[in-house]
Amino acid sequence: MQRKSAGKGKTMPAQSPGTFFATHPSRADTFSESVIREMTRLALKHDAINLAQGFPDFPCPPELKTAACEAVKDDINQYAITWGAKDLREALAKRVKTFNGMDFNPEEEITVTCGSTEAMMASMLAIIQPGDEVVVPEPFYENYGPDAQISGATPRFVPLADNFSIDEEKWKAAFSKKTRAIILNTPNNPTGKVFTKKELSFIADLCIEHNVVAITDEIYEHIVYDGHKHISIGSLPGMEDRTITIGSFSKTYSVTGWRVGYALADASLTDRIRKIHDFLTVGAPAPLQRACVAALELPESYYKELAVEYDRKRQILYKGLKKAGFACELPEGAYYIFTDIGSFGMSDTELACHLVETAGVAAVPGSSFYHTGGETKLRFTFSKKDETLIEACKRLETVDGSHT
Ligand code: GLN
Repeated sequence: MQRKSAGKGKTMPAQSPGTFFATHPSRADTFSESVIREMTRLALKHDAINLAQGFPDFPCPPELKTAACEAVKDDINQYAITWGAKDLREALAKRVKTFNGMDFNPEEEITVTCGSTEAMMASMLAIIQPGDEVVVPEPFYENYGPDAQISGATPRFVPLADNFSIDEEKWKAAFSKKTRAIILNTPNNPTGKVFTKKELSFIADLCIEHNVVAITDEIYEHIVYDGHKHISIGSLPGMEDRTITIGSFSKTYSVTGWRVGYALADASLTDRIRKIHDFLTVGAPAPLQRACVAALELPESYYKELAVEYDRKRQILYKGLKKAGFACELPEGAYYIFTDIGSFGMSDTELACHLVETAGVAAVPGSSFYHTGGETKLRFTFSKKDETLIEACKRLETVDGSHT
């Protein structure tokens, strides 16, 4: 496994002088490949249970499968409108109004993208000029590091407090004249933190005061526990025209491979996002966009059931990890448990390698979520069948660590 994680800078491979690579550095040299996806490759290699990459090993709702097959049979096989099929944007506008309390005009303010990954990249490219600063709470989802590098942004990492809440003084200090955007992720990957209205209002006030855009990744919005409530910062007063809200079908409907996500923003921000999106990808898969309309027609009970299912999975993994010697708390949302591995006497990478090779369980080294540090952490996902989690927990109990 590569030691350096994404966004931390990568050592160039040795090249003989005179080769193109030796004389022409690239922005691709400034970050590493995704450690999360590398762990998936290692899991496959060692035939391990993949609790590294956050994707379900259970099927998506049958309504989505039927709708996708019908779309292909109905010849929905050519490009959709570049910013998204009209019926999907209209269905999204309705859903976002009722669930998130935000109004978006589907004609001018909604862009369907290739997953939330593209939505984030297109948003950053749309608003960042090289040298602009972007405030990123740390730990952060691995992709945001390379996203900053690719867009030319200078990330200003703000550590979250020990309980993952907002440290107001640190946030105030992170804003400067160069700050153009903040990247939020709630419910949060990897910590499971669900930011409260008070915390989001504090961040919103800073954005308004400093004329900054909030780019908010809300892909886990339906996966919250213990009465925690998901709040979109874009729904707070004064944030309507300075927020890009990113969502996706991947996690809510268990279709991570479909690559259908979206960016919601006022018309002037959307105009820029759409231009970048158009030349990056032209558009998201047309038949799957049709099937995503069917997803948005699922009854309200679907979302309740999803949270109940994930709550049960959360408890299974939490108990198993505790038993195996990992220090952890139950997450408030999303589908990861971010553990402390201090008692194992190994670094995050050493323990991740040890687990995948000897116990047959893959997890993500904590340092992937920090620009520096994180070596005392490992992230496990519970987006798996109960039996997968039970088997993984059994295997983890066999791990030889220095814990007693
Ligand atoms: N968001 C998921 C995770 O954090 C999947 C990442 C990916 O590979 N796109 O594991």
